[in-house]
Amino acid sequence: MSNPSRSFLILVTLLFIVVACQKDEAFIESEIITSDAPRIYPGVAESLWVYFERFEKAGAEQGIEVDLVRARITGVIEDIPSESVAGQCNFYSHSPNHVIIDAEFWSSASDNFKEMIVFHELGHCVLNRDHREGRTDSGFCVSIMRSGEQPCRDAYTAVNKPYYIEELFHPNRVD
Ligand SMILES: [Zn+2]
Repeated sequence: MSNPSRSFLILVTLLFIVVACQKDEAFIESEIITSDAPRIYPGVAESLWVYFERFEKAGAEQGIEVDLVRARITGVIEDIPSESVAGQCNFYSHSPNHVIIDAEFWSSASDNFKEMIVFHELGHCVLNRDHREGRTDSGFCVSIMRSGEQPCRDAYTAVNKPYYIEELFHPNRVD
């Protein structure tokens, strides 16, 4: 018969090993979950990827599943000759679902403004949204789907984003 205190020590050691293993697995798992590796969008200029991914996340938060890879959305940043046009995505054109963002706009725009323009274009091509004009009493655009041809002030800031994102994915839900 072995020494009881020795068996106890072995048992404690075994328990420690089991616990250590479990801890290790849990650590690896949480590492995978929180992994922030960017998604790859074939046929899309790499500097647009972060905004494409944000669009998918925004959709998911609004209960709308968006998969821009499966939707075969392509995108480039290049010179758009017409003045005052920051982006294009025509769903009726000969190359549908192709986002074009103006290079000059891109080089000087803020992160918020870039996001707004990319979301606007994806609003056309992915959500089949048309333009929506109109402004609030304070003169702010009611939608980021504004055409730019009627006067209203953009207010796509951190504070107003929840409203504009909801309006983008659920235009009938907000007035
Ligand atoms: Zn538009």
